[in-house]
Amino acid sequence: MSVKEIVVLSGKGGTGKTTLTSCLAAMAGGKAVIADTDVDAPNLWIPLHPENDSDEPFHGMDVAMVDQSKCIGCGRCLRTCRFDAIAFENNVARVDTGFCEGCAACTMVCPVPNCITMDKVEKGRVYHGVTPYGPMWHARLNPGGENSGMLVAQLRADARREAEEKGYGLLLVDGPPGLACPAISAMTGVDLAVVVTEPTPSGWHDLKRLSEVTSRFKVPIGVVINKTDLAPEQAQRMRDACREEGFAIFGELPFNRRAAEELADRRIPLDQLREPLEAAWSAIRERVGLEEA
Ligand code: SF4
Ligand code: SF4
Repeated sequence: MSVKEIVVLSGKGGTGKTTLTSCLAAMAGGKAVIADTDVDAPNLWIPLHPENDSDEPFHGMDVAMVDQSKCIGCGRCLRTCRFDAIAFENNVARVDTGFCEGCAACTMVCPVPNCITMDKVEKGRVYHGVTPYGPMWHARLNPGGENSGMLVAQLRADARREAEEKGYGLLLVDGPPGLACPAISAMTGVDLAVVVTEPTPSGWHDLKRLSEVTSRFKVPIGVVINKTDLAPEQAQRMRDACREEGFAIFGELPFNRRAAEELADRRIPLDQLREPLEAAWSAIRERVGLEEA
């Protein structure tokens, strides 16, 4: 069975991306593998309650390490590093692994054999868990940890492998907010990006910018407009603008205080949002050719 992959994106955090993803996960009726790729600030686990059965380190790229007992303090590595990752303490070199980009240039200029070596450093953790809605892959990047794009790619690959091996038809990805490397890593090659936005000028601006990136990667998008009832005129402008740009509107969600309360109470607010979400879920399924759950 071919696995359809859908990523939920937003131009910025706080637009309702996780609310929507959690509801879609519940609506998929146990037929999806779920991946939270917002590795800098993961929170899909809060309403989905995964029971983790695996917890592995994430290393990213190798970084430089100095064996200070061998260092003769010549300073060549310090002068070579373009990332200010090397400092001196007590006349010997030390690498700040948080800044090291793994280029290995310092290892080439060091005159002492095996004084600087490239090695792995834990940058975060990767978890696999079981939820009432399907298996879930999620991760946590250490504060200041680099390679979040690489971690996103790893999560997607792990989740896809499980979906293929176990016959799941859908891989549902909660993407990172924004347009940086992690978001690009989450959208490349997916079957559909569902973009959550709000009816404000900045929401439209974010949606436009995101659509420029998705179109560059040939990723089709559909839009879910959140909190439409809070700004009816802006919502109408956004509908008109989406129509002009050719963006499919999959659905609209009203602001719902009970939904916010349920999410704060670590529950998926599907009962509060089911009615407006039915149309969106149906449009999403139709767009990717997914059978009803
Ligand atoms: S590997 Fe590159 S970035 Fe890291 S410390 Fe060496 S020169 Fe600097
Ligand atoms: S190049 Fe090697 S020996 Fe020289 S300061 Fe750096 S680590 Fe020490």
